[in-house]
Amino acid sequence: MSRPLNAINVPGRTSFLEEIFRGALRLDLVHPFPAQPESDRKQGDALVAEAKEFARGLVDPALVEKSGELPREAIKRLRESGYLKLQSPRKLGGLALSDLNAFRVIQAISSWSLPLGLVVAVQNSIGFAPLVQILPEGPLRDMLSERVARGLISAFADTEPSGAANLRRETVAVPTEDGHAYLVSGEKVFSGNAPFAELLGVVATVQEDGREMRRLVVVDPDAPGVRRSAEHEFMGIKGFPNGGFTLDRVRVPRDHVFVEKPSAHDVRITAQAGGLAILGRMYLIAAPSLAIAKLCLEWSRGFVRRRRVDGVPLAEYEEIQHLIGQSLADTFALEAVAEWSLLCEDAGLNPLFEQVVAKNLCSLLCWGVVDRTMSLFAAEGYETAASKAARGAPPVPLERSFRDARNLRISGGVDFQLDYWLSKLAIFSYHRAGVLDDGRGAEQAAEARELLAAALTPRNQRHLAELHDSVEEFRARCAALAKAYPDDETLFAQEHTLIAVARWATEIMAASLVLARAARRTAEHDTEAQDLADIYCTGALRRIAEYAREALEEERPDTGRVTQRWITGDGHGGLLDDIVADVTDPDTSGSEVPGPDVS
Ligand SMILES: Cc1cc2nc3c(=O)[nH]c(=O)nc-3n(C[C@H](O)[C@H](O)[C@H](O)COP(=O)(O)OP(=O)(O)OC[C@H]3O[C@@H](n4cnc5c(N)ncnc54)[C@H](O)[C@@H]3O)c2cc1C
Repeated sequence: MSRPLNAINVPGRTSFLEEIFRGALRLDLVHPFPAQPESDRKQGDALVAEAKEFARGLVDPALVEKSGELPREAIKRLRESGYLKLQSPRKLGGLALSDLNAFRVIQAISSWSLPLGLVVAVQNSIGFAPLVQILPEGPLRDMLSERVARGLISAFADTEPSGAANLRRETVAVPTEDGHAYLVSGEKVFSGNAPFAELLGVVATVQEDGREMRRLVVVDPDAPGVRRSAEHEFMGIKGFPNGGFTLDRVRVPRDHVFVEKPSAHDVRITAQAGGLAILGRMYLIAAPSLAIAKLCLEWSRGFVRRRRVDGVPLAEYEEIQHLIGQSLADTFALEAVAEWSLLCEDAGLNPLFEQVVAKNLCSLLCWGVVDRTMSLFAAEGYETAASKAARGAPPVPLERSFRDARNLRISGGVDFQLDYWLSKLAIFSYHRAGVLDDGRGAEQAAEARELLAAALTPRNQRHLAELHDSVEEFRARCAALAKAYPDDETLFAQEHTLIAVARWATEIMAASLVLARAARRTAEHDTEAQDLADIYCTGALRRIAEYAREALEEERPDTGRVTQRWITGDGHGGLLDDIVADVTDPDTSGSEVPGPDVS
């Protein structure tokens, strides 16, 4: 492999997940499971303790929720702190943290206030602080470094009203006649931190050598032609500053455009800034996911301890044990995925594949935990914290976390969409290029597989063996699909199948990491981890069987026909009987259905 096979493949530097795509379960890469180096862990422990105190002193999460605003004073203090440049070098006033410690700090802040955690996460993932580190020497890097050193808050604006899934950006940057500048026009929405950002990173389409390219353009929000158009309010994360703006022939100096190295693979965002966003989603999505899951564990314990039904403590009911056991196991898995995705690079592996899938794994595991916790709490879960406080019940803000958590499955990409793109852009590239594992993977992994199995309980050994077999099946199924659909267009039209394929591979990865992490914990005399691994893998293998079945399906119900008839208005109209549909989309219906007459 000398030329990258896909946008995140790095020739000569493999990854555990990439090897699964190639049809090999390279357990030698994950066993022994890595641990955070001792000195780094100690530094992280101290910073996490500080971050918790800092967050507590900065905002009252209930007030932020109620007012829908982070206090300006909090933003000011954030700017003065090092939290907006967790990984920037010391000379820029940064804390120069490792990836895992940056993640841990964001997790800690998010556990207290998710809007606050997201402000910090945006800066440290898709803000200019990390971007500066990959910019070439030159005036743009100098200008941004100086601004970052002074506590810059920036926003990254990719999404447009027409939808982020579009490959093309409608925002354009057109060179001026003298060639000294660009005129940028377009509209951006849903940009985190945009309402008070002092600089905007705008993804725009630029014509270069007769080709359309996407470039990151650095825009001053106070420049003539920039108008902040909206501050969005969401279902959750109340107080998180997120907004849109329009650009009308905004003049941007030529050297404020980040000209990236040419990339062989077309990606939705620009290639290098997109690479930052991959690690960035660990901070924006995975860290808050873990924070919420952990809070739910703690809240579940409190609730179950104080609740009895028919005189029996809730914890004694079998289904409650199932529910809590599952949440504990999912949180263990979430941690395994996060740790691995942030530590595997130290072993010389390419972390990008794992970081890409960590977005969905973490947000969906978190969603499972928070949804289960909602069922456990029942009415007390659905009730707001303020309402509970008013009647003297413990004001656990589960309802708020439930709303907050749903965002994590959308921002940074909708879950099923990301699975589809993973299959389309990565998994089948190995089949098309004919670079599948030739049996050497199993040889390389043989010793590690034996050692890992020896460290596991009998049930976990069986899970490991099943995962091994599943990779073989996965490889054969992908090969059959690649053969059945020799041209990409028809293969990529099988979206549902491709999504199942991506989830299958991802789940094999997650369950393997869980087993490897449990083995490490056992070696550290934590025998409980094996139980969690058993619970997780039992569920994971069930899901894997389902994905495999879906990926093998020859015949499916005709959702295409049903949907077409519904969209055109030709069928299934009776499904709307007896309801008041008081808001319709004016684009498709031509008129709004009036609401009830309340005059
Ligand atoms: C809280 C929050 C913070 C955000 N922060 C930022 C930010 O800082 N900067 C930024 O630029 N953006 C940001 N976003 C935007 C976010 O990244 C997008 O909302 C997300 O990527 C989804 O894009 P979209 O909403 O435009 O949906 P669309 O891309 O319009 O998609 C609409 C639907 O179509 C589906 N779809 C699209 N293509 C296909 C296909 N080929 N097959 C099947 N289905 C398809 C999608 O999965 C989705 O269900 C944020 C969003 C939120 C909610």
